[in-house]
Amino acid sequence: MNSNGRTALVTGAAGGIGAAVAHSLLAAGLRVCLTDRDEAGLEREAARLRALHGERPVLFARMDVDRPDEVEDVHRTLGEAWGAVDVLVNNAGIFDERPFLEIEEEGFRRVLETNLLGAVRCCRVFGRDMVERGSGKIVNIASISAWRGAPRAAHYAASKAGLVALTLTLAREFAERNVQVNVVLPGYIDTGMMGHRRGVMLKYAAWRVPAGRLGRPEDVAEAVRLLVVADTSYLTGAQLVVDGGCSLG
Ligand code: NDP
Repeated sequence: MNSNGRTALVTGAAGGIGAAVAHSLLAAGLRVCLTDRDEAGLEREAARLRALHGERPVLFARMDVDRPDEVEDVHRTLGEAWGAVDVLVNNAGIFDERPFLEIEEEGFRRVLETNLLGAVRCCRVFGRDMVERGSGKIVNIASISAWRGAPRAAHYAASKAGLVALTLTLAREFAERNVQVNVVLPGYIDTGMMGHRRGVMLKYAAWRVPAGRLGRPEDVAEAVRLLVVADTSYLTGAQLVVDGGCSLG
């Protein structure tokens, strides 16, 4: 499939994995709309990408995936500017660390709201166009915690497991409409999401990750790019693990 001129929308694109995905898709010839709730970060990242790839293939828009009105607004304004989205990358996510017994229901709900329902909203709004048009690709960014669980982050692991189930279901529902839905499961990736755990994680990765290091945002972006540029309508429902061999045992 020719990537040139196709339009991608990436959520949570102000930094980390989302920004790397945006860069990688631009390098592959797509036009990319970066979205995030962090407006300052978004502007910084869009300026950086415009310096690298030119003004025309880069748009950016504030979009908090927790807010249906903002998702609808971006759908409308982006549609006016570039037409329908061909590629949706559901990357926005939050992490919160605490023992299961200390997670109040509201805290559980907050993580599910962003990590799972945020993706559901975007799939409904942007995926509808794909289904109607009979073409499109959706890539969801889950986590190996969907398979392995995540001690002290049950809400996070549950949200990511939900995202995997959503992916498999939409892959089956949308396949006959030529819309492919795949999921990437990153391991431990060196981004701001690591927060205060970074020092410990660096040591852990050197010791326990077969690749001997933490993942880089670019490692995940490369996996997304492969799924997006793959010239086949038969690659759907795939769960692509990007963890340096960490989950192999
Ligand atoms: P970052 O925190 O660096 O980036 C996430 C981005 O998403 C931030 O800009 C964040 O904004 C934004 N965001 C959060 N909530 C919303 C929302 N409601 N609407 C729109 N944007 C939002 O993290 P990563 O790049 O590491 O994470 C990207 C994805 O990869 C996440 O889904 C994460 O769960 C997943 N992942 C990450 C791993 C890792 O080890 N880093 C491992 C496995 C999966 P703000 O700064 O305001 O929160």
